[in-house]
Amino acid sequence: MKKNDIILILILLCIGGAGFFVLNLTKDSGSIVNVSIDGKLTDTYDLSVDATYEITGYDGGKNTLVIKDHEAYMTEADCPDQVCVKTGKIHRVGESIVCLPHRVVVEISKEGEEAEVDTVSQ
Ligand SMILES: [Zn+2]
Repeated sequence: MKKNDIILILILLCIGGAGFFVLNLTKDSGSIVNVSIDGKLTDTYDLSVDATYEITGYDGGKNTLVIKDHEAYMTEADCPDQVCVKTGKIHRVGESIVCLPHRVVVEISKEGEEAEVDTVSQ
């Protein structure tokens, strides 16, 4: 392989990477937050409205969901594993925070699009 070939491949890789990055930025940003408990859609929140919500999950478990700066995340939960809190911030369509002990699923979606959890429960 010649040196020029390697440079050409590197340039092509950069272009491909940049294109993928731009595509990710433009298409995946969500606008609503769907909250479902035990497989049933219970609430839908606006991702552009900063707020704090108390979610009472299965068996009385408590989760605190915060929406801020177009991102959603759990700040507190009384579940034993704390996986939901550790998940961090989500904002892209299809991203979700799951609290298994409380059977709470927080999922990012877009306005006008049916939530996956909704179609499953019907
Ligand atoms: Zn949890």
